[in-house]
Amino acid sequence: MFLMTGDSGIVGSLPSRMIARMKRFTSTRREFLQTTAVAGSGATFGRIAPSLLWSPSSPGEAKSVPEWASKPMRWMQLTLVEDDPAHFDLAFWLDYFKRTRSDGVCLSGGGCVAYYPTDVPFHHRSVWLGDRDVLGELIAGCRKLDMSVLVRTDPHATYDDVKIAHPDWIAVDADGKPRRHWSSPEMWVTCCYGPYNFEFMTAVHREIMSRYRVDGLFINRWDGSGMCYCEHCVANFKEATGFDLPRPGGEQDPSHRAYLLWRQERLISLIDVWNAEIRKSNPEAAVIPNNGSGALTSLNALETSRRAPMLAADRQARHGEAAPWLIGKTAKEYRATMGDKPVIGLFGVGLEEPYRWKDSVTSDAEIRIWVLEAIANGMRPWCSKFSGTLHDERWLKGVEEVYLWTEKNQSYLMHRQSLARVGLVYSQQTAWYYGDGRADAKVENYALGWYQALVESRIPFEMVHDRLLDTAHLAGYGTLILPNLAALSEAQCGQLRAFVKNGGNLIATYETSLYDEWGVRRSNFGLADLFGVEWTGKVEGPMLNSYIRLEHEKLPHHVVFTGLEDAPRVINSVSRIEVAPRATFAEVPLTLIPSYPDLPMEKVYPRRAKTDISCLYMRQSGGRVAYFPCDIDRTFWEVLCADHLKLLRNTVLWANTELPLVEVNGPGFLDVTVWKNAGSITIHLVNLTNPMTMKGPYRDFFPVGPQTVKLQLPSGVRANHARLLAADRSVAFEVSGSVLTVMVPSVLDHEVIAIDI
Ligand SMILES: [Zn+2]
Repeated sequence: MFLMTGDSGIVGSLPSRMIARMKRFTSTRREFLQTTAVAGSGATFGRIAPSLLWSPSSPGEAKSVPEWASKPMRWMQLTLVEDDPAHFDLAFWLDYFKRTRSDGVCLSGGGCVAYYPTDVPFHHRSVWLGDRDVLGELIAGCRKLDMSVLVRTDPHATYDDVKIAHPDWIAVDADGKPRRHWSSPEMWVTCCYGPYNFEFMTAVHREIMSRYRVDGLFINRWDGSGMCYCEHCVANFKEATGFDLPRPGGEQDPSHRAYLLWRQERLISLIDVWNAEIRKSNPEAAVIPNNGSGALTSLNALETSRRAPMLAADRQARHGEAAPWLIGKTAKEYRATMGDKPVIGLFGVGLEEPYRWKDSVTSDAEIRIWVLEAIANGMRPWCSKFSGTLHDERWLKGVEEVYLWTEKNQSYLMHRQSLARVGLVYSQQTAWYYGDGRADAKVENYALGWYQALVESRIPFEMVHDRLLDTAHLAGYGTLILPNLAALSEAQCGQLRAFVKNGGNLIATYETSLYDEWGVRRSNFGLADLFGVEWTGKVEGPMLNSYIRLEHEKLPHHVVFTGLEDAPRVINSVSRIEVAPRATFAEVPLTLIPSYPDLPMEKVYPRRAKTDISCLYMRQSGGRVAYFPCDIDRTFWEVLCADHLKLLRNTVLWANTELPLVEVNGPGFLDVTVWKNAGSITIHLVNLTNPMTMKGPYRDFFPVGPQTVKLQLPSGVRANHARLLAADRSVAFEVSGSVLTVMVPSVLDHEVIAIDI
């Protein structure tokens, strides 16, 4: 772990201007706006003009979302390949856009290949372009269809003529060599932090916007292809931070941490440069950067979200071992920082594996479950197709069907507000500074465990960004879950303390708050007072053959034992930290059975059948607080033990004392989301019950039902009529007090209960 010398360690090892820079990055939004220009960076990352921002929550600061971004429900993206101008059928595509009722489009413009007669020096025209303006032809056709139009550029690769004329535009590896492109060996990888992006691509964007005045630019692979050691990066980084660029593998080196921040600053300022330039032609236009979401993303999601009236989440398909709910998780992560601005789910139609079969077509069922799960989680679909020349047409019909269904039911699918009362908090700073290059294992797997448990438990929930823990952002939540949220500042701990003081409930695991916002370990938990325990300094694990004893005798019928009434013990988690309670806890439902030998078999018997070491600390302090001093959530993600699922679910039920928002009773594995829209409440049931759920692709669907759905109607809301949008018929319902009950006979892939209010 980086600098174990206590809170002052990090300060002692960094130059003062870097400390100032780091402090700026953790400053509040207001302070952030007041930061000044970065010396020597060649661009300002300082006070952001309000005209550069679209914010859903700060009307005094920003404009409302323009219609081109708010209106489209169905996006299509046609990513041309270089020889398409000679081969592709433009009329076919315009007809497909029309048939699918698509109302937004993203078209290939320039960057590595220009599809229009560009005048920007070194902007490579498609060799097959001839005298045509393919981009212009497509834009004109799409405008006749009344579509919002984005143009896609891709700056990540270029050619020999650029390399000869501007060798400093090319990315350089750690050995000082210019980088050839890994897949197209005639090309070079560009440096994203220097003049190629700041000057050349700015000229490209200026030209596209001045010629076509489109609604915005979608920029692909704009944020670099790994570290760059070119002359600009070396000089700019040194000037800004005082450090030499970090070498590969030095995640624990202070220069690496400085680099994380410098890189963000550079790239965010690039978005501002591009936005300022294109708005000279179209004040409503916006750069839509293609970047990731969630804790593992390297760019500060608050900053990218503030700059965009909508974002497209490029999660084209699942790969490896992943459940279909991954696209729903992506939707929740984007929404956490985008608020009620549109979040678009960019999906592909092929297999998404490391072998990159970019012209492949996966099964209809796999495309469909991915899109339906995205819609159920509040995204609008965006179908991304590479190559205008179709090598396999099998996807066309399925996408058309789901798009037509969204058009028919659009008023119920323009989701305004999630009614979920549970928030699963994620933390980019924990991934950056505590993750130390292993954020998957140290950070993300804890959240994935909770995610799976909440979906299996049919508890609607949202993702919450850890830098948005202020009272206003937490207003809709009754319970927050902190899955090993290790790195938290004093201010963030204070916000969580206020949340609990005001009646909010908190569930935390493992090393939550044991580190500050820079990943420097504290002498005790930042939230020790809420947890009611002190850290003793010891960590144990991995523990083999260890168990948790359920204290039924002391706490008969405790809610934590629901579904485990006949279980005297369950398997333990894999790692635990030792803590000392500050006072006696009234309820200690789970106690430790320490590891005992697992071989030879004759020796496998517990040496201590029982201890008084608690595995779950539960107390009331305003709201309810439950703290697991162990990695039960990460263990659940690794092992998927049904007993752990019950313990996690039951802890949420214990903490969340209010009546449940929704209860769905019936067989199967369903993702349940609940939305308030203009004039309706919608409940989505996505049927994930499938032998290919945890590793795709789906082959088919398997219906589950009947499902009895009970909804807690918001106060003052009266239900007038209910419809099943997939079955396409009205459905009877009963209201008793504030609870609406409806029976859904069967769910094949997806059902939506749409309740007119
Ligand atoms: Zn560079």
